Amino acid sequence: MNPYWLEDEAPQRATPRQEGRVDVAIVGAGITGCSAALRLAEGGLRVRVHDQRGVAEGASGRNGGFALRGGASRYDVARETYGREQAAELWHWTERALDRMVELGGESLRRTGSLRLAADEEERGEIRGEFEAMREDGVAAEWIDEPVDGRFHGAILHGEDGALQPARFVRRLAARAADAGVEIREHDRVDDVDALDAEHVIVATDGYGHGLVAELADLVWPTRGQVIVSAPLDRVIYDKPHYARQGFDYWQQLPDGRLLLGGFRDVSIMDELTDVEETTPTIQASLERFMGELIGEEPTITHRWAGIFGLTQDMLPLVGRVPGHENVWCAGGYSGHGNVLGFACGELVADAILGDTSSPQLALFDPARFF
Ligand SMILES: Cc1cc2nc3c(=O)[nH]c(=O)nc-3n(C[C@H](O)[C@H](O)[C@H](O)COP(=O)(O)OP(=O)(O)OC[C@H]3O[C@@H](n4cnc5c(N)ncnc54)[C@H](O)[C@@H]3O)c2cc1C
Repeated sequence: MNPYWLEDEAPQRATPRQEGRVDVAIVGAGITGCSAALRLAEGGLRVRVHDQRGVAEGASGRNGGFALRGGASRYDVARETYGREQAAELWHWTERALDRMVELGGESLRRTGSLRLAADEEERGEIRGEFEAMREDGVAAEWIDEPVDGRFHGAILHGEDGALQPARFVRRLAARAADAGVEIREHDRVDDVDALDAEHVIVATDGYGHGLVAELADLVWPTRGQVIVSAPLDRVIYDKPHYARQGFDYWQQLPDGRLLLGGFRDVSIMDELTDVEETTPTIQASLERFMGELIGEEPTITHRWAGIFGLTQDMLPLVGRVPGHENVWCAGGYSGHGNVLGFACGELVADAILGDTSSPQLALFDPARFF
């Protein structure tokens, strides 16, 4: 049940302490909290991070390791829902965030590109529509017309996407933040954000902090995802992250030859609307069966785990002040797409606290849209 990523040895980290009241307290030491902490400390503020577990032990160390630009919706759907300019700007904004992640990430992030696959003719039509919309709006992508892997009906190649060792990346980020003076308190649960000794509080708990701030409880729904990892294969089958069926199924081969596969949430979709971090026989069996089909033999599974992410009604994150609270901010609700978005939104909320509210994403992600 141990996430493969978390077996990686954590880097040494400085242990600065902040005395008394800080400028910003952050709840959550995942990619969002660590990204915000680093940005704030570099902006000269005194920061303390609290996590009920260790750094990256929430979804940030339990995910599929896909570092994808864009939002959680398909590009054409995003364009239709919130406008052409906003959608294109959002995609370009995440491309810039991914560039910064590459600079910070060392060998925790490989720029492999990713393939969005069509599982059938219907999905081929859908992703072809997505590709056309991207092309019209100057968002880079390539269309692959021929069958992929003998079973998929075409694909979009997103050449700039990456494959992430997410726990390694976030632990590196935490070490950078600690070097910049951030105090990180692990195994330190927060039950009342108003009791924190800080000028501002950022709630960076994505799917895990359900109920911590009452106003967010109905807006970010905890949702479970499940993953399996095989023993190393003796050949390279996939040189980049692949995903199909609207992202319900996703897999990538790791540098040591293992195949990681996640998804099949739609097999029992209502049961997966939960924050119970447990694998289930139904979804695990679906994952194993599909992995067998991908590799052409019965897989040897070495790792299985579940993780929780935060889903929102419009598939856009919530970033900004929590309505009804003067000094409580949030960044979360990435709808299963939080590796790059979480990094970017951590910086975004930090910039807003530092006084820079010029980003158009702040209007798009404003939690007040639901109030
Ligand atoms: C199985 C799975 C696969 C995924 N695959 C991908 C993928 O391939 N690509 C992608 O982009 N996204 C993926 N995601 C989504 C992505 O992992 C998340 O969106 C992202 O990690 C969120 O980061 P975060 O820092 O906001 O939250 P998290 O990493 O979840 O961190 C939140 C932290 O808050 C802490 N916390 C909660 N409540 C409290 C409290 N009261 N007091 C103190 N601490 C608290 C938790 O312990 C946790 O460490 C996946 C998610 C899952 C679950």
